[in-house]
Amino acid sequence: MGCRSRMNAAANALWLLGISAAVAASIVAAPPPAAGALAGMDRSVQPGVDFNQYANGSWLRSTEIPPDRSSTGVGRELTELTAGRTAELIRQSAASTAPAGSDERKVADYYASFMDEAGIEAKGLTVLKPTLDRIAAISDRVTLARYLGSTLRADVDVLNATKLYTDNVLGLWVAQDLDDPSRYAPFLLQGGLGMPDRDYYLLDSPHMADIRSHYRAHIAAALTLAGIADAERKAADVYALELRIASTHSTRVESQDVKRGDNHWSRAQLQSNAPGLDWQAYLGAAGLEAQQQFIVWQPGALTGIAALVAAEPLATWKAYLQYHAIEHNAQFLSRAVVAEQFTFYGKVLQGTPQLRERWKRAVSYTDDALGEAVGKLYVARYFPPANKAAIEAMVRNLVSAFATRIDALEWMAPETKLEAKAKLTALKVGIGYPERWRDYSGLKVLRGDAFGNHARAEMFAYRRSLNKLGTPVDRSEWCMTPQLVNAVNLPAMNALNFPAGILQPPYFDAARPAAMNYGAIGAIIGHEISHSFDDQGALFDAAGRLHNWWTPEDFAHFKASAEQLIAQFNAYRPFPDLAVNGKQTLSENIADVAGLGAALSAYRLSLGDTPGPLLEGFSADQQFFLSFAQTWRAKYREPTLRQIIITDGHSPDQYRASTVRNLDAWYAAFEVKPADALYLTPGERVRMW
Ligand SMILES: [Zn+2]
Repeated sequence: MGCRSRMNAAANALWLLGISAAVAASIVAAPPPAAGALAGMDRSVQPGVDFNQYANGSWLRSTEIPPDRSSTGVGRELTELTAGRTAELIRQSAASTAPAGSDERKVADYYASFMDEAGIEAKGLTVLKPTLDRIAAISDRVTLARYLGSTLRADVDVLNATKLYTDNVLGLWVAQDLDDPSRYAPFLLQGGLGMPDRDYYLLDSPHMADIRSHYRAHIAAALTLAGIADAERKAADVYALELRIASTHSTRVESQDVKRGDNHWSRAQLQSNAPGLDWQAYLGAAGLEAQQQFIVWQPGALTGIAALVAAEPLATWKAYLQYHAIEHNAQFLSRAVVAEQFTFYGKVLQGTPQLRERWKRAVSYTDDALGEAVGKLYVARYFPPANKAAIEAMVRNLVSAFATRIDALEWMAPETKLEAKAKLTALKVGIGYPERWRDYSGLKVLRGDAFGNHARAEMFAYRRSLNKLGTPVDRSEWCMTPQLVNAVNLPAMNALNFPAGILQPPYFDAARPAAMNYGAIGAIIGHEISHSFDDQGALFDAAGRLHNWWTPEDFAHFKASAEQLIAQFNAYRPFPDLAVNGKQTLSENIADVAGLGAALSAYRLSLGDTPGPLLEGFSADQQFFLSFAQTWRAKYREPTLRQIIITDGHSPDQYRASTVRNLDAWYAAFEVKPADALYLTPGERVRMW
């Protein structure tokens, strides 16, 4: 179901390397001051011609992407600030007398082990030897199935943070059963590729052909560095197998379609519908021997991959698994392996010239392994209770404004409105950090064992997911860490998470006019609320069940508006050979349009009968829209922008800034005329909520 989170992942994270939090650039800057908050504009541009340039033009001209980043912008700069603070907190943990086994000690030891580059270099590839030996010992299809099962991890997420990529042949997500949200179900997702999406293997374009030739060379180089004989020939086999796997994969658009993905298969159906893989051996090795029911998200890929397990030569599978074992663990191996990985994933795939400094990668991996333990330290220092109270008040206004807007919809039948409002009332909103912190007592962190710590952290997260099966659903659980600069809607939980990381300047700043806060964090809150009512979210009822609560006429009207929005975004074409995919980004675009409208209504509600104050000569409505567009201030390297367009549910940031053209109030605020490029006739403006 489209990314439900606020920001695109590709530019924000080296997600291919298993890093979920974005950190970059070397200087830890102070938060932007409240004064001059509207700086960075280009007032020579007409707002109706190019609102992004008008709001951000001088910033765009004067900003360079730091050499270790694939992009930069407001959210990414804040992420960098947060990473610097986090690193400082971790270093203080290291200096403290926190006892062995405490969260603080684990955080300190995890970080220190990754920072010990000399120690990691000295061990070299010896740490990988047990894994390579296990691959060498694969002697038939049963031991192959067992090995594949042992690689299954909780590394994907269809509806919430939307991680649709895993380098293992399959990925697991444990979440509410979409037909019965009172219990957890195991979702099986397609995987097994080294490049970000099937399009990288299958799309016929010079850009992709060039990436493919670099990728084949990279596979050979990685195998050679690991001392594996006959690397060139094996690389060709590995690539050919990945190409076959890619051909079985669902597309990005198909994978976000909830109805298409909600396939309940019994254990017996796995064997009969997807023959070739010994499921008993696979599930046994994955710790799922007792599980009887699964949700198979992409049946075609599951069936296709299972058939390839039977059909491809064992030697090819073994070369493939050797390569993936190296790649998966590269960051914990020698400098040469790290450098080779960066050459492809950083330089070729993202256009980034420089590897991030080690401490920044250390923060990312520590966040990945012990996110809430780090988050506990973070909120204690950087998230004052007053901020929590201020955001809670804004959320109340947003929810109330959204309800009023539902009442005012002329096209919607009263019974549909009742259902929509019931869903809004049941929404569970988490602000700053979770009610209960995650328990890391089962995770062993050994000082000096970066490789083992990473493997144990992945296994710990996996076991934690498996342990949920058969237990009551916990709606208070978070899917983001508190220090993350992002926000998320969890549709099957009917819940929202607003991490402390995003509840700070320039998204929220108590010292500036409310109009600017409503245009920034208010629009983000509105965006996340609206996800409950986007093209996919609207298919879930108040309890989080996939269940149709619409009258046919209302749903037809809703779909017609969605088609308008798809067309609006299909017309955005940053490259001659690549346009934004209106269908792929629909959920996010609906959330942007509805969220911005709700934020403006909430702002007006907060004002009562008084007009908002002027700032630097701008009216309150102008400040609101400018502040919104300024949160989408961003620059991407070309390969990264292309990757986002292909793999991400979010539109590139400059087009999200243009969401304003769907709101009547924007036309009034900036006197936008029919001749202006962004002008839409009242009938073309999309208003879904
Ligand atoms: Zn979103």
